[in-house]
Amino acid sequence: MVVVMAPGATEEDVARVVARVEEVGGEAFVSAGVVRTIIGLVGDIDSFHGLNLRALPGVADVHRISDPYKLVSRQHHPERSTVWVGTDRPVPIGPDTFTFIAGPCAVETLDQTLEAARMAQAAGATLIRGGAYKPRTSPYAFQGLGVAGLEILVEARRQTGLPVVTEVVDARDVEVVAEHADMLQVGTRNMANFGLLQAVGRAGKPVLLKRGMTATIEEWLMAAEYIAQRGNLDVVLCERGIRTFEPATRNTLDISAVPVVQATSHLPVIIDPSHAAGRKDLIVPLSRAGIAVGADGVIVDVHPHPETALVDGAQALVDSDLRALAQAVRQLPGMVGRVDASQWPVPAR
Ligand code: PEP
Ligand code: MN
Repeated sequence: MVVVMAPGATEEDVARVVARVEEVGGEAFVSAGVVRTIIGLVGDIDSFHGLNLRALPGVADVHRISDPYKLVSRQHHPERSTVWVGTDRPVPIGPDTFTFIAGPCAVETLDQTLEAARMAQAAGATLIRGGAYKPRTSPYAFQGLGVAGLEILVEARRQTGLPVVTEVVDARDVEVVAEHADMLQVGTRNMANFGLLQAVGRAGKPVLLKRGMTATIEEWLMAAEYIAQRGNLDVVLCERGIRTFEPATRNTLDISAVPVVQATSHLPVIIDPSHAAGRKDLIVPLSRAGIAVGADGVIVDVHPHPETALVDGAQALVDSDLRALAQAVRQLPGMVGRVDASQWPVPAR
């Protein structure tokens, strides 16, 4: 069950609902969004009915949700959500816009990261990516620069003005990553790391939640629910390919996941064709497909010198590839009723 508070509800109104729920042995998880607060209830539904929560001050509505995920379900929130990333000039990710995110797979050096960030910006990206903590299949492979990498990302943000999304792989690093980054990424290998999900849910920054490479859509949405249940509704989902029997690509971009998720969850959904395909020749066609199917954005790897990249060089775009992608991102979203995220007005706060 989900209690939706009215836009003007006070902290006392919220506390009153929580207290009533706890009095009958239930648990109440408060998620404060920018516009309104919602409260997810866990416990005996029949005892909640007896509370007549709808009549309490500040309560706008009470919904019984049949989906296994509650807070991220569209059943209590039929409009699709927009998540804003960054503080100085926030970037929207949501149903009205198409958001282009690009940057190096891994932060290797200051020069490499700045060059990649400038390539991304020149191509029209409004958010930059780059991993300072890298989840690698091999323990002998480059694991990322850690805090030094976060500092390089901060410098890239300072020089470009673009907000930064970067991965966190361990719950113990959430605080330091949140201090430096504008958005925290949870990667495919950690989608079901519930301690990490809860930690990023408490970090006070938007989260980019990648789909586990062997996760069903329902499992993915339940992972998003873990983050939402810890108070953070600013979650963007990222379809990054799933494991199939097909070896031509690294993973198979599940393009149908985009409209399937959008039908059932209010959260934004973007695609990552770089990590899905693992091949740069497929990035532009898959990005076009993502725009056509209704994705809210795309995230891609770029590198100034892919032949020397420490991670994922085969999928990194260079300037000439970026021109074709930039053209798709400029021209196609308008055909499906969207605006380039850089052109969308920032609402007053
Ligand atoms: C990444 O984005 O750098 C990454 C490791 O992605 P994924 O978790 O999708 O493999
Ligand atoms: Mn990568």
